[in-house]
Amino acid sequence: MERRDFLTQLSLAGTTALFSGYPLLGATAPKKDKLGVALVGLGYYSTDLLAPALQLTERCYLAGIVTGTPAKAEAWKAKYHIPDKNIYNYQNFDQIANNPDIDIVYVVLPPSMHREFVVRAAKAGKHVFCEKPMAPSVADCEAMISACQQNKVKLAIGYRCQHDPNIQAYMKVGRERKFGKVKMVNSAAGYFDARTDHWKQKKALGGGAMGDMGVYALQGARLATGEEPVSVLAQASTTRPEIYKEVEETMMFLLEFPSGARAACQTSFGINMNYLQVNYEKGWLKMEPQSGYNGNNGSMSDGTLINFPIKSQQAKQLDEDCLALVGNTPLIAPGEEGLRDIRVVEAIYKSVASGKSVKI
Ligand code: NAD
Repeated sequence: MERRDFLTQLSLAGTTALFSGYPLLGATAPKKDKLGVALVGLGYYSTDLLAPALQLTERCYLAGIVTGTPAKAEAWKAKYHIPDKNIYNYQNFDQIANNPDIDIVYVVLPPSMHREFVVRAAKAGKHVFCEKPMAPSVADCEAMISACQQNKVKLAIGYRCQHDPNIQAYMKVGRERKFGKVKMVNSAAGYFDARTDHWKQKKALGGGAMGDMGVYALQGARLATGEEPVSVLAQASTTRPEIYKEVEETMMFLLEFPSGARAACQTSFGINMNYLQVNYEKGWLKMEPQSGYNGNNGSMSDGTLINFPIKSQQAKQLDEDCLALVGNTPLIAPGEEGLRDIRVVEAIYKSVASGKSVKI
C-alpha cells in the first residue's frame, strides 16, 4: 500500500492520533507509518504463522524479537532484517522500555509464561498482545489485566477466529435470533499430537488439551449463544496414559447457559476434529472447520452458506488490533475476553476433580 493510501485509510478511520503523538503510543515516539511488533518466543506459531503474517500487515511490522536461543536470533535477523538493537533475550527483555521501535510486545510462549512476560511488557510501557490460552489461572489473568491498566497499555488476546468474517457470521445469527433462541450447541476442536515430551503434555507449563484446543470448542459455544455459561460438568480421559500423565489428552464438557441453551463440547490431543453445530428453535447452522487458520465455512437450514474468503486471519487480527490501539477504540478480544474463557476452564477442572457439576 502506498504511504498516501495508508494515511488516508488511517484518517478515514479517525486514527490521526497516531501521527499527533497519541499518549498511549508514547508522546515522544517518532511518527511512523506502521507500529513495531516484537515477538516473544520463536516457536511454531511465531515462525510459521505470525512472522509471515507480519509481512502482509498494513498497520504493523516485525520490528523485534525476544528469544532464549542465540541461533534463532541469528536466523531471524538474517531472514527478516531485524537490527541488533531490536533483539532481546529473556534476561535483558526489560530494556525494551527504552526502544522506540517497539510499540507492541506479542507474547507467544507456553501459557505458564504468559503472565510474567505480559506484566514485564506492560511495565516497559508497551502494548501487549498475548496468545491463547491467556494463562493457566483466573488469578494470573486478573494480574495481567491489572498490570496493563496500571501501566496504561492495552492488552489483546490472540483470538484470531474472532477476526474471521465466517466466525462473525455465525455470531450474528445467534445475536439477531435469525432462527430463534439457541437450544443446543455441539462444538469440537482437537488434533492428533504425536509429540510425547512437549510443554503441551506438562502441567507446570500450562499444558493439556483444554487450554489449548479446548478454548476453541468453548468459544464455539460462547460465541454461538452470545452468553456466558452458568454451570459445567466435565470429564477428562486419555487413551495414551504413558504420555498424558500430568494433563488430559481429551476433555468433554457440558455447559448450561442462562437462556436454557445447552452445549456439548469436546477437545483432544488424540483426535482430529473441528466442527460446530448449533440447533435453534427454528433451524440449524453447521461450521466445519470452525477454528481453522483458513477455510472456516458453513451452512444453515435455510440454504444460506457461510463462505467468506480470507487471506490471512493473523494479518487481519494484527491490523485490526493495531487500528484499535491507534484509534483508542475497543479491541475485539481484550484481556477480559481471555479471562472469560479461563473462568470456565477453571470450573471445568474443578468439575473433573469433584465428578460433579460446578457453578460458574
Ligand atoms: P512452541 O513449543 O512451538 O514454541 C514455544 C516457544 O517458547 C519456543 O520458542 C520455546 O523455545 C519457547 N520457550 C521458552 N521457554 C520455554 C520453556 N520453559 N518450555 C518450552 N518452551 C519455552 O509452541 P507454540 O505452538 O508456538 O505455542 C506458543 C503459544 O502460542 C501458546 O500459548 C499456544 O497456545 C499459542 N498458539 C496459538 C495458536 C493460534 O492459532 N492462535 C496456534 C498455535 C499456538
